Amino acid sequence: MSDKYDVIVIGSGPAGYVAAIRAAQLGLKTACIEKWKDKKGAGVNGGTCLNVGCIPSKALLDSSHKYHAAKDDYQSHGIATGEVTIDVPAMIARKEKIVKQMSGGIAGLFKSNKVTSLYGSGKLLAGRQVELTDNDGNVSILDAENVILASGSVPVDIPVAPVDGDVIIDSTGALELTEVPERLGVIGAGVIGLELGSVWGRLGSKVVCLEALDSFLANMDQQIAKETRKILTKQGLDIRTSCRVTGSEVKGKEVEVTFTDADGNEQKETFDKLIVCVGRRPYTEGLLAGDSGVNLDERGFIYVNDLCSTSAPGVWAIGDVVRGPMLAHKGSEEGVMVAERIAGQKPLVNYDIIPSVIYTHPEVAAVGRTEEQIKADGEEYNVGVFPFVAIGRAVAADEAEGMVKMIADAKTDRVLGCHIVGPNAADLVQQVALAMEFGTTAEDIGMTVFGHPTFSEAVKEAALAVNGHAIHMPNRKRRK
Ligand code: FAD
Ligand code: AMP
Repeated sequence: MSDKYDVIVIGSGPAGYVAAIRAAQLGLKTACIEKWKDKKGAGVNGGTCLNVGCIPSKALLDSSHKYHAAKDDYQSHGIATGEVTIDVPAMIARKEKIVKQMSGGIAGLFKSNKVTSLYGSGKLLAGRQVELTDNDGNVSILDAENVILASGSVPVDIPVAPVDGDVIIDSTGALELTEVPERLGVIGAGVIGLELGSVWGRLGSKVVCLEALDSFLANMDQQIAKETRKILTKQGLDIRTSCRVTGSEVKGKEVEVTFTDADGNEQKETFDKLIVCVGRRPYTEGLLAGDSGVNLDERGFIYVNDLCSTSAPGVWAIGDVVRGPMLAHKGSEEGVMVAERIAGQKPLVNYDIIPSVIYTHPEVAAVGRTEEQIKADGEEYNVGVFPFVAIGRAVAADEAEGMVKMIADAKTDRVLGCHIVGPNAADLVQQVALAMEFGTTAEDIGMTVFGHPTFSEAVKEAALAVNGHAIHMPNRKRRK
């Protein structure tokens, strides 16, 4: 068999593996190169998402939620338990089993779709050649009609809190702790910081999140951000905005963190563990030969157009290594688009309708534009807000915190955005994403029959509230 492929994908995270599978489905001879190794040194697929991101974080999220519920919530249901304890190594072992199962699943999908899976490091040379250095150090050159770069991202380091893998850790380290830290510091109250902070908070850590920006969740709809902060604070998360970390000193088994507070005063806090969650950066180390023809932008992302073409003909780039939200599903959709374009089809990714979720409890989820963005765009709009406390299913489940906020164009009633904090927000927002994809109006959603009693009735009621027709609460604006 020759080493010439129709498509070589470098990276098997959710962007790369999906691109490889779709390309192979379309009859293209496809290989996917992955350099990630498990703890025993064997090659594994799945990238950040499956190994140290989406999946393991959700495994811990569910374990910690069950622990917290058994400890604090069951009593009100009349359920008595003995003393509730947490075996952290057992929880971590369960997470690792799930990771293994999911990444093994990709190997199975590659096999059934006839994707050639190659373990090692890939480097793009000029003329769509790829140099493969396998995990034993053997070097070979592969030729391809098309190369898809999907090398992903890594956590950002900050010199004021260098990760030592022991006391100061990054998100990967926070998924591997073997005991619950008594005092846990988190730098960055963004998506990952809040998720990991609340996992360990539920298990008993006293968590302080230090966030440099003045506003909390600055890119989210601020009404929802405010409500989220209220809920998380009530749960015990100590969220401090306008607090920029300026230094840290590890002293034995603890770390003293220095930061400036909202008034510009210097403050100090001591933690048993400090998680640095200040964002992620594109990863292109060793990926590109000097003459590959692929350009990076000023922030280090691979430069691509809307169709994910790089500046080198026949070379594409997708996922976290290119512009846009660093989300698994965004990368996967780009992977499908590129594979189909290579096969001669003409799909596009709708970058305006990409749902995003923060997996705290309750979840926070959004799709479309925020009220702040719509206002800044100078558009007229109507807003409908509906609280979960007026939803029977939410009250019955003791999950009645939060709200659904829907925003629609004032003239056309087209839904422009939906923002939710509350039970099952991630799945609820997906209903609106689907509706928005079909250009729906708030009235369309309001006229749809929703099952009763469901959490999703809050979506229907928020849509009705846009035009002053909500049934289960007084309407702010009444229209006939
Ligand atoms: P990656 O998943 O980073 O994969 C890139 C792969 O390329 C890696 O396996 C890497 O080893 C490989 N690679 C790089 N260079 C080479 C090379 N030269 N040769 C061979 N292989 C190479 N997103 C969500 O949408 N939902 C979530 O709930 C969510 N939770 C997260 C939780 C945490 C803690 C973290 C850290 C991230 C989370 N994310 C989440 C983000 C998500 O993981 C990323 O957006 C996603 O993994 C990006 O996919 P990707 O394929 O572009 O890159
Ligand atoms: P995200 O990009 O969602 O992962 O969030 C990362 C957060 O970290 C952002 O909100 C940043 O403002 C915050 N951040 C970055 N540097 C610092 C710092 N030195 N101190 C506190 N917060 C920071």
